[in-house]
Amino acid sequence: MAQTISLKTECGSASDESALAKAVAGVIAAGRAAAFRHWVPATSGNFSVRIDADTIAITRSGVDKGNLQLADILIQPLAVPLLPGSSAEAELHTALYRQRPDLGAIFHVHSPAATVLSRLAAPEGRLLLTGWELQKALSGVRTHEAIVEIPVFANDQDISALSGRVDARLAEPGGDAIVAPGYLLAGHGLYAWGATEAEAARHLEALETLFEFELSYRRFTP
Ligand SMILES: [Zn+2]
Repeated sequence: MAQTISLKTECGSASDESALAKAVAGVIAAGRAAAFRHWVPATSGNFSVRIDADTIAITRSGVDKGNLQLADILIQPLAVPLLPGSSAEAELHTALYRQRPDLGAIFHVHSPAATVLSRLAAPEGRLLLTGWELQKALSGVRTHEAIVEIPVFANDQDISALSGRVDARLAEPGGDAIVAPGYLLAGHGLYAWGATEAEAARHLEALETLFEFELSYRRFTP
């Protein structure tokens, strides 16, 4: 608890202490789970959990996600510039939290299936999945017959520009497809989210597994 209090003091936030502690624990658990699955090689990926309407807990740049310590987590207010030590990609988290008040957690991984399949789908600007029972693990999908759309963006080292494109695309109304709670960056990885840490973790695991299914299936179909 003393460590949690020091985190709170450092950020000067008036956030409820238990919400802060829960968010930090959620970030640490998510990083550990992703590392166990080999989805965050070589310190890649980043993980965030909302503390309240105005603040998130998020991993620092360049830390081992499988062995996160309290010092590896930043308490980032959404209304101010990124704190020193932030990942450049933290802006993709903060922008999405500002746009989507319903989001409670965002997990980003450089998982193998997502990274490879995103390159194959990049020319279309989206990946469409259908026919998989597991897609029902995604919020709002009720049947294997639904068409699930995962937006795919070209990778970009200009994160502000990329963030603007993501925000604009995600604000567009969906067509016949159900837009997944996540998107792909081509040759880079997957962003997935949920209303809670548990939902974000379920979406992340479902999407990554669906990508593995799809990659295998494409090997055997023209
Ligand atoms: Zn990344």
